[in-house]
This record gives sequence, C-alpha cells and structure tokens, in this order.
Amino acid sequence: MRLTRNCPWNKCAFCPVYKGARFSLRDVDDIKGDIDAMAAAAEEIKGLSWRMGAGGEVTEAVAREVFSGTLGAGQEAKYIAFWLFSGGQNVFLQDADSLVMKPADVAEVLAHLKKAFPGVSRITTYARSATVARIKPQDLKSLREAGLTRVHIGMESGSDDVLKYMKKGSTADIHIRGGLNVRDAGLELSEYVMPGLGGRRWTRQHAEQTARVLNAVNPHFIRLRSLHVHRVMPLAEEVQSGEFELLTDDEVAAEIRLFISGLAGITSVIVSDHILNLLEEIEGRLPDDRQRMLSAVDRYLGLPQPERLLFVLARRAGLVRGVQDISDPDVRMRAERIRDRLAVTDTDDATAKIRELMDGYI
Ligand code: SF4
Repeated sequence: MRLTRNCPWNKCAFCPVYKGARFSLRDVDDIKGDIDAMAAAAEEIKGLSWRMGAGGEVTEAVAREVFSGTLGAGQEAKYIAFWLFSGGQNVFLQDADSLVMKPADVAEVLAHLKKAFPGVSRITTYARSATVARIKPQDLKSLREAGLTRVHIGMESGSDDVLKYMKKGSTADIHIRGGLNVRDAGLELSEYVMPGLGGRRWTRQHAEQTARVLNAVNPHFIRLRSLHVHRVMPLAEEVQSGEFELLTDDEVAAEIRLFISGLAGITSVIVSDHILNLLEEIEGRLPDDRQRMLSAVDRYLGLPQPERLLFVLARRAGLVRGVQDISDPDVRMRAERIRDRLAVTDTDDATAKIRELMDGYI
C-alpha cells in the first residue's frame, strides 16, 4: 500500500531506485479511498467464491477465475485476489520512508485498513533512521497500537566515513537512536547491512563499526544485501574513475567474517536472503549460530582457487545455494562450461565479467 511516492532523501550513492522521481506525500483521504476500493474488490471476489461453492474462501480455483477475467476485473482486483489467496494477512507500506508522514495520519490509515481487513496481522514498512530517530516515542507506540508491526531500516553501515561518502544522510549515532526508538516502541526492527559498501579503503572500519552500532541496538533481524554497483547508481562514476575500489567476492566474504565476529551481546537473527549475496548459508540466530555462520564463510574461503571460482560462477548463475552444492556433477559441468565460455581462470579475473552478469538482478 502506497502511503508516499518515492524517497524524500534520494541521495544515497549506492541506490538505484527513484532516480529522477520527485517525492510527495499522498493525501490521507486518497489512501483511504484505495483501501475502500480494495475492500470492494475483496467483497466481489468473495461473492464469486460463494457462487463457485468455495464458501467465501479465495481458493486457487477462485483466484484463477478472477485472473481469467470473469469479473471483468482490472489489474487491481487481480492483485487483491492473489493477496487474499496468499492469506491476506500481510501488508507492506510503500515507498522508501512511509513514516515521514505525520504519525497521526499514518495511524488513521492503519485504523482504516484494520477495519476494512480485520484479518491483517502483519503491517511492515521501510523507514529511514533519521526519520524514526525524530519521531516521539509515544507517536511510535501509537503506530504499534494502530497495527504497525515491523520497521525495515536501510542502515547499510555503522561507519561515519562510509555513511558520509555514500551520502546516506545518517550517522552511527542517528542509526542507534532511530533503532532504539523503534525497539522501545515495541515494534520489530529489521536492519539492512551492505557488505562491501566501505570498498577497499574502509572495509575493516565498515565491518567493525557496523557491528558496534548493531550491538548497541540489538535489532530483531540483520539482513545482508551485498553491494553491487549498477550503472544507474551515482557510485558508478566513482568506481569508473578508480576513486572507489570495489572488493572482490573473497574480500567481501572476509569482511562479513570480521563483521559477524564483532557482533556481541545481541540476539538478532541474521538473514542472507538475496541473490546478490554470495553466501546464502550465513543465516542463524546470535549467539548460538555464530560459529555455524563463521564456518560457512570459512568453508568458502578454504576452497582451493579453482573450486572457489566454480562456486562463484555457479552461484551467480543461480545454479547453487550453498558451497556443498558445487559437488553435484551436473552443477559442476554447467559451471565449468560457464568458466570456459567466459575464459576466466580465477575469482579476481572473473569479477568484472560476473558483475556484468549481475546487473540483471538489480
Ligand atoms: S534512503 Fe533508501 S530509497 Fe532513499 S536514496 Fe537512500 S537507499 Fe535509496
């Protein structure tokens, strides 16, 4: 559900979205109108379900019927049918920083949404640290009471040097205040971290300072999204000129190892659920799963160079999820074919070509 349009900051050097698009708040009545339209579509779909003998439930057959155009429905009704078929319990508030709206307006929207869809149990949103650090604690609590459950923050780094260079519009201190504000309000907090964002110059500082900030916040989730520089990002020019030196896959893995080693005294769940991440196996709850996560990095770094190259190629081609998958003969054969086609002999050599392939994932 779109509460605002685009990003009110829109300056982060590593960010490919909303470029050239102006930010604006949406009118509360317009948003409520959207919710009413969603509710009307849901009623119509449930009516169809009764007529089909599904008792008002949106089964696969009912969803298919909506998609086939029975209701003469537009694209919106199809989205609603698909959403109801998937449970109709989760709502994500868009765009980049929904909580920049007045808290009373967000609460009014949430109340309207919960009234129209009482089955909604999880409402999540993106927000900037600078925004949630500014919101009064009682206002954040009122949002929780109105139904907001989780806030996703793009923290990216805890290093002030990296944050400044990347024009994040935040500092380590703001990240800490924003994160604690969210937690203290009883909301779930998910912090996104970007391995590789410090480049070669700040890799150690990026790992250590990001761990320090997270140790002060103890978010419920830490999500890894490795840096990949796409040509539409402002950072692409710095990379082109040599001003910003990208890390290789091996260096990013070593940086993640240092980062996880620095996390202490917290109980966050680490998630590595993005195709841009080389090592999806880095997943678990601290502190119990720390060693398992470090071992996943060590398994990769401990591979002989030719095996590491095959794994990197296979992973980037979407053939494997974990290091052990590379022992599958079929996967190996396909990875070897890619290696031969790209004519690469080691992971460093492959980096540039792999980056070109990865542009497609952004
Ligand atoms: S705040 Fe988020 S959406 Fe906005 S420019 Fe930065 S990374 Fe992009």
